[in-house]
Amino acid sequence: MDSYRYMGLRKQLVDLLSSKGIKDEKVLAAIGKVPRHAFIDTQFDQYAYQDMAFKIGAGQTISQPFTVAFQTELLNASRGMKVLEIGTGSGYQTSVLMELGLKVFSIERQRILYERVKILLPQLGYSPKLFFGDGFAGKSAFAPFDRILVTCGAPFVPQALLEQLKVGGALVIPVGEGEVQEMLRIERGQDGNTRTESFGEFKFVPMLPERSNDI
Ligand code: SAH
Repeated sequence: MDSYRYMGLRKQLVDLLSSKGIKDEKVLAAIGKVPRHAFIDTQFDQYAYQDMAFKIGAGQTISQPFTVAFQTELLNASRGMKVLEIGTGSGYQTSVLMELGLKVFSIERQRILYERVKILLPQLGYSPKLFFGDGFAGKSAFAPFDRILVTCGAPFVPQALLEQLKVGGALVIPVGEGEVQEMLRIERGQDGNTRTESFGEFKFVPMLPERSNDI
């Protein structure tokens, strides 16, 4: 359930993200709409609108709002575009993409997280296509994508993801084998070549191979 209290806290979060450098009004409006408290256990809901990542059980992490806003801004997607997300996790980033009017396909390798989000998101009014599987393989059956967003720290840029990008499309991916990753935006040009830009260091949970039934 949403409330005036949550709405007020959300407005403060949007103002904070704006002061931290997020400029895209559409991204800020989407963050202003998604009820982040619904992704967090009610006993911790005072943290829901703070700018922090949060472990919420079952190996699950909800990304820091600034990181979600930053990656979404880098994605620079327009309404109606097809977007593939790797790492559904809590489903929060997925919901932000849905608020932007995107056609979202999201893959999660942990079954329990996939099962949870499959129930939660429709309750919140969002209907992305959710998959249990390995993000390293992408989703060739639904390719090509206008945009691909990776929300876990990748040890390298998976070739399958590059191949599933439309010409003129872009992949936003944090890459690095250690604790810290470098945020990359890789565009696929008309000639099939790629152009890579770097946007600083971030910390993500690692992108792990193959699907897992672990808790
Ligand atoms: N977008 C999420 C972030 C979750 S953290 C959110 O807003 O909450 C990253 C997620 O990536 C974790 O749930 C983790 O299980 C998942 N992940 C890790 N390796 C993966 C892989 N190879 N394929 C798909 N998902 C993966």
